[in-house]
Amino acid sequence: VIDMGQSEHSVITTCAYCGVGCAFKAEMKGQEVVRMVPWKDGKANHGHSCVKGRFAWGYATHQDRMLKPMIRSDISQPWREVSWDEAIGYAASELKRIQSKYGRDSIGGITSSRCTNEETYLVQKLVRAAFGTNNVDTCARVCHSPTGYGLKTTLGESAGTQTFDSVMHTDVIIIMGANPSAAHPVFASRLKRRLREGAKLIVIDPRQIEFVNAPHVKADYHLPVRPGTNTALLTSMAHVIATEGLVDEAFVAERCEAPAFQQWRDFVSRPENSPEAMEDVTGVSALDLRAAARLFATHGNGSIYYGLGVTEHSQGSTTVMAIANLAMATGNLGREGVGVNPLRGQNNVQGSCDMGSFPHELPGYRHISDDTVRAQFEQDWGVKLQPEPGLRIPNMFDAAISGSFKGLYCQGEDIVQSDPNTQHVAKALASMECIIVQDIFLNETAKYAHVFLPGSSFLEKDGTFTNAERRISRVRQVMQPKAGLADWEVTCALSNALGYPMNYSHPSQIMDEIARLTPTFSGVSFKKIDELGGSVQWPCNAEAPDGTPIMHVDEFVRGKGRFMITKYVPSDERSTRKYPLLLTTGRILSQYNVGAQTRRTPNVLWHSEDVLEMHPHDAEDRGIRHGDMVAIQSRAGETVLRADITERVQPGVVYTTFHFPESGANVVTTDNTDWATDCPEYKVTAVQARLVSEP
Ligand code: SF4
Repeated sequence: VIDMGQSEHSVITTCAYCGVGCAFKAEMKGQEVVRMVPWKDGKANHGHSCVKGRFAWGYATHQDRMLKPMIRSDISQPWREVSWDEAIGYAASELKRIQSKYGRDSIGGITSSRCTNEETYLVQKLVRAAFGTNNVDTCARVCHSPTGYGLKTTLGESAGTQTFDSVMHTDVIIIMGANPSAAHPVFASRLKRRLREGAKLIVIDPRQIEFVNAPHVKADYHLPVRPGTNTALLTSMAHVIATEGLVDEAFVAERCEAPAFQQWRDFVSRPENSPEAMEDVTGVSALDLRAAARLFATHGNGSIYYGLGVTEHSQGSTTVMAIANLAMATGNLGREGVGVNPLRGQNNVQGSCDMGSFPHELPGYRHISDDTVRAQFEQDWGVKLQPEPGLRIPNMFDAAISGSFKGLYCQGEDIVQSDPNTQHVAKALASMECIIVQDIFLNETAKYAHVFLPGSSFLEKDGTFTNAERRISRVRQVMQPKAGLADWEVTCALSNALGYPMNYSHPSQIMDEIARLTPTFSGVSFKKIDELGGSVQWPCNAEAPDGTPIMHVDEFVRGKGRFMITKYVPSDERSTRKYPLLLTTGRILSQYNVGAQTRRTPNVLWHSEDVLEMHPHDAEDRGIRHGDMVAIQSRAGETVLRADITERVQPGVVYTTFHFPESGANVVTTDNTDWATDCPEYKVTAVQARLVSEP
C-alpha cells in the first residue's frame, strides 16, 4: 500500500480477468477507486494492460452487486433477505438434512477459477473434510482439464513450461486454437514484438484470427483446420518430422523413454498419417502442412501456445499430448524460447487446479487414492478422507437427474450460462433440493438456488492468483468486503456450522497451510512473495527457493518424457444433411467469458451482443445478409443471433462468442466430452442455420 496523503493511497493488486495476470495499481480516495493503472514492475505485464483490466473496477462497484444473504425454501418463492447467521445456518441444516436422507455423497461443491488460491483451497477442504465426500470439481473441468491430463501424462506436471518473457527468445511460434489478441491481449503484444523482430509464425485455427493477417506480424502459414480434427493435423505434422529425418535424436535419446518413442515413431510414420492422407480430414493443404512442419522443426527455438480451441474437444487430451510429442520430438523443451504453453482463460484457472479442486486430486496434483498423501492431509485436517474420487461436474448433473445428487455449493461460477447444453444443466439443477450460490451478482444459476450468499470482488480480497506461467501473484485488499464478509470467511462460517471447525485469522494463514501440505508450494508465503516483488513461479521450495521460471530443464518432472500414441478419432459432431454447418466458439477483446463482469463496465459500449460469423457462400445459399437475425439449431437446442457475414470463417463453419445470456450460445452446444477428462466439446457443434428476420 502506498500512502499518498489526504486519504489518497494506492494498492498494488492483480487483474481478475484472464490468465496473463497483470499487476495493477488501484488509486484510491478513501474507499473509492479513482482509477486502475497497470503497474510497471508487474512481472507478467511490465506496465501494460488491456481494455478489460483497465476498467475492471467498474463491475466491482456496480449497482447490481448483491450485498445481502437471501434464502427461499422453493425456487418458485421470492427471495427473503436474512442475516449472515440465518443464511449460513439454513444452508448447513439443509445440507445435513439431505445427507441424512440421501447419503454422504448426495452433495458436493464447485470451486471457482475467479477466486483466490486460498478461497479455492478452503472450498475443496470444506467438501472433503466437512461434507465428507470427494464430490468437488472446478470450472477448469470445462476448459483446461485436458491440459492437466495431457501434460501430466507426457511431461509429468499439469502446467505450462515457460515464463511469458521466454517468447522473446523464440524463433518460430505455433499458435493453435487460441486468439491471444482477444483473450490474452497483453501477452499478444509481446508475441507481436517478437514477430516484428523476425520470429516465424504458424497459426493453426479454423478461423482467421488477427495474427493470420495483422500488419507486420502476418503468419507465415495459416493452417485452417476443420473443427474437430486437431489430432489428425498434429499427427500428420509429426509424420513429416519423423519421416523426413527432422527428429532431434540427441534430445530424445537423452530425455525420453525409448520404447514409447519408438512406438510413436512407428505410429506417426504410417502412410495413413501422412499430410496427403489426412488432407480430406483436416481440410489443410498437404503442401502447406509439410512446409509448416519443416519450418517448426528446423528454425531454431520453437514454442507452442495453445488455448481452448485445443482442449474443448472430444479428443482434447489427445491433442494436448500430440503437442507435447511435437515439442519433445523437436527438442523444444527445457530452456528459454521453447516449450508448451497453455494460455489459461481465467485469472486463477491454474491455481484452482493446483489447489486440489479436482475430485481425484488433493492439492499439488496428488491422487486421492495415494494412502501416504491422504494420511498427511488426514493428520493435518483431523478427519478421515474418502479414498475414491468423487463426481465430476457433468456426473453431478447426471446424478441429479437420476435422483442421487441433491445439494450443491457453487462458488463464483455461473454454470447455467457457462456449461454446455443449458437445458440439461437446468434440468439437473431443478432436480436438486438445496443449491447454494455464492456470487457477486444474481447470476443465471441463482434462478435455481435456495440460498444466495453475496460474494466479494477481487478488490475486496486478500490472497493470491496463479497465472498461465505458474506465477503466484499477490491480490491485495483494496476496499473492505461490501457484503461484510470475504469469501474465505463465508466458507469458514459454513464449515463451522456443519460442525467441522475452520478458523483462520487471515488468508496468509491459509497459504501457510497450503505450503505445509504441498511440496511444490512449500517455499511460498505472503512474506516470500512480497520479498520477491509481488510474485513467484511454482515450484517454489527448498530446491527452488526463488521459484522456477522454466520447467523440465535437466529432466522432466516425471523423469523421462513419455511419447503417447495420438490416434485420430472423429468427433460425433460432424456435418450432416440435417446439420450441415460446424459451429465453433471464442471470445472478443472487450468481453470476458459469460460477460457477468465486463457487461457491467464501459466495455459494453464496444460490443453489446454476440453475433454469428458466417462465410458469404453459406449466407448466400440461405438468403442471409449482414445484420439479419439467424436461428441456429443443433440436436441440443436452438438460439437466434445477428449475422456477421465475413471471410474470417471458412465455408461450412460458423462462429460465435458466449458473452451475453440473451443469445446463450450454450443452448446449442452438446453433451459430448473429452474421453479422458469430460471437458465439454464446445468447439464443435453441427448446426443448421436459417433466416428469421431482416434488420
Ligand atoms: Fe491483463 Fe488479462 Fe487483465 Fe487484460 S484481462 S489486463 S491481459 S490480466
